[in-house]
Amino acid sequence: MPARTPRARPPAGRGSGSDGLRVAEPLIVTHGLAKEYRLGTLVVPALRGVTLEIAAGEFVAVMGPSGSGKSTFMNLLGCLDSPSGGEYFLAGEKVSAMSGDALAAIRNRRIGFVFQNFNLLARTSALENVELPLLYAGVEKQARRERALRRLEQVGLGDRLDHQPSQLSGGQQQRVAIARSLVNDPVLILADEPTGALDSRTSFEVMALLQALNRGGITVVLVTHEHDIAAFAGRVVSFRDGRVVEDRREPNPVDAAVARAGLETQPA
Ligand code: ADP
Ligand code: MG
Repeated sequence: MPARTPRARPPAGRGSGSDGLRVAEPLIVTHGLAKEYRLGTLVVPALRGVTLEIAAGEFVAVMGPSGSGKSTFMNLLGCLDSPSGGEYFLAGEKVSAMSGDALAAIRNRRIGFVFQNFNLLARTSALENVELPLLYAGVEKQARRERALRRLEQVGLGDRLDHQPSQLSGGQQQRVAIARSLVNDPVLILADEPTGALDSRTSFEVMALLQALNRGGITVVLVTHEHDIAAFAGRVVSFRDGRVVEDRREPNPVDAAVARAGLETQPA
C-alpha cells in the first residue's frame, strides 16, 4: 500500500497567514459595543457604542485621555469581560454572547496579553512564567518546556531562562511577558501601555519586537498615551468619553528598530 503523505502540521498548528481563512473577514468586528460599570446605585458608562473593524495583520494604537475607556475596550476585546450592549465578533465568532467558560477558551486559544507592569510571577523563573499558560491549557511537561524555551529564544532571552523577575531589567521582564503572550500561538496580542513603565530606549526595543511579531502575521492592538509610541503603529484609534473620536491610518509607520538605533547617537 502506498504510504500517505504525512500531514505537515498537527491539526492544532496555526496557519502562517497564507491559509486564507482569516484574510477575507476582519479579525475583530464590534458593533455599538457598550459597557457600564455599576457601583452600588451609581452607573458609570465607560464605553458608549464603539463600532470598529480591525483586519488580521493590523498594528493598531489606541489613544485617549485617562478614563476615556481604553482599558475597558481592551478588556472586552480580550474576552476578559462581557459588554453591557452591542456585539463583538472575533475571527467570525460571536464572542459577545458567550458565557464565562467559552470566553476563557477563546482567550486561551487566540489572545496574548501584555501589561504595563509585566504581571510576572515573582520568585518564579522566566521559563516557568512563560510555561504558565500552557500549564493551564493542559500541555504536558516536556512540550511546555520546549515551547516556552522557543519563545524565550525568539525574544532574545535564551540565556536568561532561570532568572526570576527581580533579576531582570524592566525591558527583559517585558520581553518575558511577551514570550508568555506568544506561547499559545495567538492570532492577536493585546498590550495595555506595554511601555508605560520603561525608558525610551527600552520602549523602542519592546516596540521593535512587537513590530517584528506583527510582520510575522500577528495582529497587535496596543494602548499608549505617547505619540512617539503610537507612531510605530499603522493605525491610530482615539477614544474620548467612551467613544471613538478619530481613526487614522498611517501608511508608513516609523520602524522602531531604526528609531532605537537612532538613540545610540544621542547622549544617554
Ligand atoms: P482608560 O483606560 O482610558 O483610562 P478605563 O477604561 O479604565 O479608561 O475607564 C473608563 C471609565 O470607566 C472611567 O470613568 C473609569 O473610572 C470607569 N471604570 C473603569 N473600570 C471600572 C470598574 N471596574 N468599576 C467602575 N468603574 C470603572
Ligand atoms: Mg487604562
